[in-house]
Amino acid sequence: MGNFSLDPGQRARRAEVRDLARRHLAPLAEKGEPGRVNRPLVAELGRLGLLDRLFTSGALDLCLMRESLAQVSTEAETALALQGLGAHPVHAHGTEVQRTRWLPEVRAGRAVAAFALSEPGAGSDAAALALQATEEAPREGPGAVSISGSAAGRDRPRRDPHPTARRKWLLNGEKTWISNAPEADFYTVFARTGDPGTRAGGVTAFLVPADRPGLTGTPLDMLSPHPIGTLAFDDVPVTTDDVLGEPGAGFRVAMNTLNLFRPSVGAFAVGMAQAALDATLAHTARREAFGGPLKDLQTVAHQVADMALRVESARLMVYAAASAYDEGADGVPRRAAMAKLLATETAQHVVDTAVQLHGARALRRGHLLEHLYREVRAPRIYEGASEVQRAIIARELYKEETR
Ligand SMILES: Cc1cc2nc3c(=O)[nH]c(=O)nc-3n(C[C@H](O)[C@H](O)[C@H](O)COP(=O)(O)OP(=O)(O)OC[C@H]3O[C@@H](n4cnc5c(N)ncnc54)[C@H](O)[C@@H]3O)c2cc1C
Repeated sequence: MGNFSLDPGQRARRAEVRDLARRHLAPLAEKGEPGRVNRPLVAELGRLGLLDRLFTSGALDLCLMRESLAQVSTEAETALALQGLGAHPVHAHGTEVQRTRWLPEVRAGRAVAAFALSEPGAGSDAAALALQATEEAPREGPGAVSISGSAAGRDRPRRDPHPTARRKWLLNGEKTWISNAPEADFYTVFARTGDPGTRAGGVTAFLVPADRPGLTGTPLDMLSPHPIGTLAFDDVPVTTDDVLGEPGAGFRVAMNTLNLFRPSVGAFAVGMAQAALDATLAHTARREAFGGPLKDLQTVAHQVADMALRVESARLMVYAAASAYDEGADGVPRRAAMAKLLATETAQHVVDTAVQLHGARALRRGHLLEHLYREVRAPRIYEGASEVQRAIIARELYKEETR
């Protein structure tokens, strides 16, 4: 497909996801308890085959799903996205044992995944993370996995015919703002295996099942109810078998995941903005004031035109960034950052304008726009705040300039 238009099949799939969301997902989302993982909703996403698509199709399809779900049910959208964010590192960097154990469960919506990077002292500056993985003295054992000396560029540990030391670590520290915590069934956890000061180079990704001894968590109450919490690690044992990728290469696991997901955060924002635009068109076409519908006031009509213009530009930027990822084109980090930045900032503006054009009713508890007004705020902060996206864009531009 070209970068700038969807083919009929893609348009049909977008409509199909919206239809599934209306008929099957929104009713389950409404029955969920705010701020808790909605397991029936996750299971339904699995039954409908949408979770499967997280792992079988590319970045553009992920965007189409997220945009379509967001137009109908932000809860369903978020539940889908979090399964992808938490499980993508297992899909892309896991061993066969890890993949076989967890991915079928994630795809079926029976296991809930989470991505645990942020800490109280490491948010935007993720390389400052301090969750400590302290290595125990190595022991020899049969069937051990060699993780050192594998071929350059390979992400996966391989079974070594000559067993070497099986490494063991104890995790100590804290994670915070972790979506799906503390209810997830497993966590992709980024911990420091290198010396303090090693920053990104001293980080290892571990797959930590929720039932590991020493792992506890506490829910957090947010502006827009969302399953999210803190995690406390008190001598949580992990071994070579739990490593995702290779020791010391965990930051790459995190950044690869974010490069894939960033445009799709933009798609989530575009879906919310489209829902706000649709509601505004319907409202301003009917609401009477000063002897006619609001749409006959030129300032209103022009604001609506401006909303549509911005939503469409953001959508195109998101699709282009996702297509670039799928095609392995140049400039993926820059384009992903641009798409996330433009779409999330646009959605904030569009939802705010929609509230303005609806008047008081938009602020009534339970109104679609009251919900979107709260929901649209967080994506400008998570997976890299807008300022961080600008820093990435500038860094990439100057890299190209000075090459
Ligand atoms: C709803 C929600 C869900 C989340 N889910 C997860 C999750 O599942 N897993 C996870 O690991 N984390 C998650 N997070 C955490 C999120 O990734 C962090 O909040 C984010 O990285 C920002 O970190 P911080 O909040 O500590 O802000 P800080 O890093 O303290 O930054 C505060 C502000 O400082 C400014 N700033 C920071 N850096 C720069 C810079 N370089 N240049 C200019 N200005 C700057 C920005 O305005 C920024 O918003 C979630 C957050 C929210 C709100």
